[in-house]
Amino acid sequence: MPAQTDVVIVGGGLAGLAAARRLHRAGTPWLLVEAAERLGGRVGTEAVDGYLIDRGFQVVNTGYPRLSALVDLTSLGLGYFTQGVLVRRGETLHRMVHPLRDPFGAARTVLTGLADAAGLGRLGNVPAGHDVDRVVGGRLADVRRISSVGRATDRLRLAALAARCASLPVDRLLAAPESSTETALRRAGLSDRIVEELLRPFLSGVFGERELHTSSHVFAMIVRSFARGRIGLPAGGIAALPEAVATPLPESLIALGVSATSLRPGLVRTSAGAVRCRAVLVATDPGTATALLPPLRRIRMQSLTTYYHSTAEPPLAEPILLLDGDRRELVANTVVVSHAAPTYAPAGRHLVATSVAGPMVPPEPVVRAELARLYGRPVDDWEHLTTVPVPEALPAAPAPQGRLRKPVALGEGIFVAGDHRASPSVQGALASGWRAAGAINGYLRG
Ligand SMILES: Cc1cc2nc3c(=O)[nH]c(=O)nc-3n(C[C@H](O)[C@H](O)[C@H](O)COP(=O)(O)OP(=O)(O)OC[C@H]3O[C@@H](n4cnc5c(N)ncnc54)[C@H](O)[C@@H]3O)c2cc1C
Repeated sequence: MPAQTDVVIVGGGLAGLAAARRLHRAGTPWLLVEAAERLGGRVGTEAVDGYLIDRGFQVVNTGYPRLSALVDLTSLGLGYFTQGVLVRRGETLHRMVHPLRDPFGAARTVLTGLADAAGLGRLGNVPAGHDVDRVVGGRLADVRRISSVGRATDRLRLAALAARCASLPVDRLLAAPESSTETALRRAGLSDRIVEELLRPFLSGVFGERELHTSSHVFAMIVRSFARGRIGLPAGGIAALPEAVATPLPESLIALGVSATSLRPGLVRTSAGAVRCRAVLVATDPGTATALLPPLRRIRMQSLTTYYHSTAEPPLAEPILLLDGDRRELVANTVVVSHAAPTYAPAGRHLVATSVAGPMVPPEPVVRAELARLYGRPVDDWEHLTTVPVPEALPAAPAPQGRLRKPVALGEGIFVAGDHRASPSVQGALASGWRAAGAINGYLRG
């Protein structure tokens, strides 16, 4: 490891890697030290007995602009999830189509609104435990099967909200008055029913919290990326994402298994010796960032836990997120991930990922009982592969978050990046690293 360079990057998660890409492109000498023996930080995959077990259920969203700028997404061999979700309510499953991406979805949403208004709403929902598409086929059935998720006006308002987030310039979206997501949903006129049966379970899996305290600006950007992109999984597991960001970087400039222990302007002390530098970028997890940089305030973290099960008989025939509309407040979502990416399970088996938001890690049998209810079929023969709790999954991002661009330059050549400087997401981590590297290049040349 060199004893001197221009920039030391501490942390090889997505933020540190994005920063390295920009410094490298500009010809700025740099060195990245990463405490773990692998790159990727919170984005990782373990191969176990023919299954790909991600470090918690997380997805690639092709609508993230910084991601598609840094990675050729076609190289990831993405397998996609169905656009839209299923919602369990009592004895029936309801399909909520994606309001913008399904060419017929918006029209069906409107038609369903009309059907509801005419009192035709509650027909033809999908019986529990059946393959949705085999049970309900054809256009009319499509109209009926989304009929019971919220009211007609809810679905129209939701479609309008998605269209607004997808089409307005980011600056205008982030100039809007800010509140908690919960308040923003109520202000948008959405009913208690659609919030509780659809939005709260869905967003709890995205934010890692059920209260929807997360800023409405973060919410708007999440809606924007879901509306503009698709979600999927790389054939090689989610770890293929940081690997792809790192691909153009020379391995000789990346020191794995090396921890930064302390720093001051012009010097970083590590477990492998001290490195002199002109600038240092702390791109660690938020907890380590506040330990290394005392001026930073402590950042509260949200937790997510994923339960992985294997089954020979998949409970659904398509890769679609299933939400709990029964307000049981335990499971955020569950999905047959191997339907999206068959490489996630060995031949003849299927991998089901089930996410729980919040610090509690319910015992597996409790989650299994919920899965039987949600899928509407016995799951006693499912094999519990593992439970992956990530207590520090995402930084909390309550209002106000402003323009989602917290300062990255702390003075005297010290910089900070990570999802806690932008939005708690892959996009936020990449964008903050990219922005910090731009600031470093300016500092070094200035
Ligand atoms: C279960 C789960 C599900 C998620 N789902 C999604 C999703 O679906 N969509 C989405 O957009 N986002 C999702 N996220 C969030 C996303 O993964 C993170 O926002 C992003 O990966 C954060 O990247 P980062 O570079 O900021 O931090 P990190 O990934 O935490 O990287 C920091 C790096 O710094 C290293 N480090 C720490 N201390 C030191 C030290 N002293 N010296 C050297 N190195 C150090 C760490 O080892 C790590 O590699 C999810 C996260 C989790 C955990």
